[in-house]
Amino acid sequence: MTSCPPGLKPPGYRTEPTRLEDKVAIVTGGGSGIGRGVCLAYAREGAQVVVVDNDLEGANDTVRRLEAVGRRGLAVRTDVSDAVEVDAMVAATLAAFGTVDVLFNGAGITIPASLLDTTVEQWDRILAVNLRGQFLCLRAAARVMVERGHGKIVNVTSILGAQARVNRGAYGASKAGIISLMQTAAVELGPHGIYANAIAPGFIETPMAKSAPATPEETRRKLAAIPLRRRGDHADRTGPAIFLASRESDYVNGIVMTVDGGFTASVD
Ligand code: NAP
Repeated sequence: MTSCPPGLKPPGYRTEPTRLEDKVAIVTGGGSGIGRGVCLAYAREGAQVVVVDNDLEGANDTVRRLEAVGRRGLAVRTDVSDAVEVDAMVAATLAAFGTVDVLFNGAGITIPASLLDTTVEQWDRILAVNLRGQFLCLRAAARVMVERGHGKIVNVTSILGAQARVNRGAYGASKAGIISLMQTAAVELGPHGIYANAIAPGFIETPMAKSAPATPEETRRKLAAIPLRRRGDHADRTGPAIFLASRESDYVNGIVMTVDGGFTASVD
């Protein structure tokens, strides 16, 4: 092994992060929360980012932030549960950037309600956005990726995809479905050079998390149940997303990466 004199960088060392240099990434839910953080993280790693969201204002705001760090971005208002809109979004990506290398499937909703109180309309909407939406985006992006012979797909599930919480029945069912969708994608698309993995966040501070605020006592109990004794922050939500989109994960396919500070490892 060759060693470097102190203060000198080893050969090939680059100070700029470039794990996604020249890649084109589609990030759904990019107008807010986890998705916005991932857009910025991918841009800092060198990617050109297509910011997809229901909320065009939020998507445009994210693009302005990308441009502030010297990257190109494109905001595309899309309802991910609508097949026609999703196909048009991928067509717009190809028109702007010529390819799709990475899909981060982050758009999602929750409507807290017990099973007894959940209406059919609420059930269908949650499943349509969270599960059908990920399927439609995955299918549209993977059709391009298969032609190119490579691609990385990162699906956002939740710790509630494998464990239950009261008032989250439809949400949990959608997130469990996402794990199955991701595994099938990993199996079917792997031979084409396409990777599919999932991230299962625990408690991450975002607008969605704030939409169902906890009482101080609930917050205290939640934090006490997390071995690291804190919620996930910006770096916690972007590090795994960069890893699963980059070459660093080139033998990782079909996994759920849990990002919850050890919450689901504990029986306390
Ligand atoms: P967020 O801040 O609410 O962001 C979600 C984004 O998705 C919003 O900009 C939302 O736009 C957009 N969206 C909703 N429905 C859409 C649709 N039909 N088409 C396109 N975009 C749509 O939530 P977040 O906390 O960042 O959540 C991101 C992902 O992480 C979700 O899949 C969520 O289930 C998952 N997750 C979050 C946590 C957490 O603790 N925060 C934990 C586990 C998993 P609108 O504002 O217009 O609805």
